Amino acid sequence: MTHLLNADLHCHSVVSDGTLTPEALAARAHANGVQLWSLTDHDEIGGQQRAIAAAHALGLDYLTGVEISVTFADVTVHIVGLGFDADDAALAQGLLATRGGRGERAQEIAAQLAQAGIAGAYEGALRYVGNPELISRTHFARHLVDVGICQDTSEVFRRFLVEGKPGYVPHRWARLGDAVRWIRQAGGMAVIAHPGRYRFTPTEQYALFSEFTQHGGQGVEVVTGSHLPSEYATYAAMAQEFGLAASRGSDFHSPDESHTDLGQLPDLPGQVTPIWQWLESRILRAPRPAH
Ligand code: AMP
Ligand code: MN
Ligand code: MN
Ligand code: MN
Repeated sequence: MTHLLNADLHCHSVVSDGTLTPEALAARAHANGVQLWSLTDHDEIGGQQRAIAAAHALGLDYLTGVEISVTFADVTVHIVGLGFDADDAALAQGLLATRGGRGERAQEIAAQLAQAGIAGAYEGALRYVGNPELISRTHFARHLVDVGICQDTSEVFRRFLVEGKPGYVPHRWARLGDAVRWIRQAGGMAVIAHPGRYRFTPTEQYALFSEFTQHGGQGVEVVTGSHLPSEYATYAAMAQEFGLAASRGSDFHSPDESHTDLGQLPDLPGQVTPIWQWLESRILRAPRPAH
């Protein structure tokens, strides 16, 4: 398969913290020229069957997807899984366990916000939640914008919900090795999501890539809506150094919030191996019209 495929292998629906349904995302991806798509909701694969059906109805090829929250060296890291069997029981169990603490965490976030003078944030955030098992900081951010405390969600994540600010609740997510194993044993490939977003020292970042590779991880996002253009080259070089395939994805959440739309990304740099070449046999092909 070609290097220049318009693949978008990272986005979110109402099943996690996006604002569009899987069907609306499929339509938007198709309208934007995406040729291979994956819906990667946080810690949840409940939207996969809808995404597959909607993609195939539009003639769009699909890879199953998920974005697993992991705690590595006390930092939250995201691991994308692609091309796994969505019926795998161990993967489902692992994701269920990873989602487990979100309800209590949300109550603690709301308690801290109440102390900072913002009452009723739990109920407010819940109004934006599409999946009761998946209340996230994004839902709090939308509520704080809605009630006029902040202009936009970026401002919320500067003033609240992050370390040192009201509404920050440390949380222990899945372990790196477990997340990689769940994905691999379900037949998929694990990918380090948006490595440029983590505040790691070079030594810590090297440790993440080393341990990820030792656990059997095979890919890294190089071109993502979360990277500056200068980071494409940085992570293309890291992919080569660690023998990882490169992935490409917008991380689209919402037409009102996301600066990178589905499929609107530069191509992968020439020297890397696109992960869709390694996942060729896992692609769920849309039915083609008979000739
Ligand atoms: P959670 O899994 O509940 O910790 O929420 C994480 C989500 O918050 C991410 O997946 C993003 O969608 C969103 N998020 C984190 N940081 C920011 C930021 N600086 N600006 C906008 N959204 C953010
Ligand atoms: Mn998100
Ligand atoms: Mn992420
Ligand atoms: Mn994401």
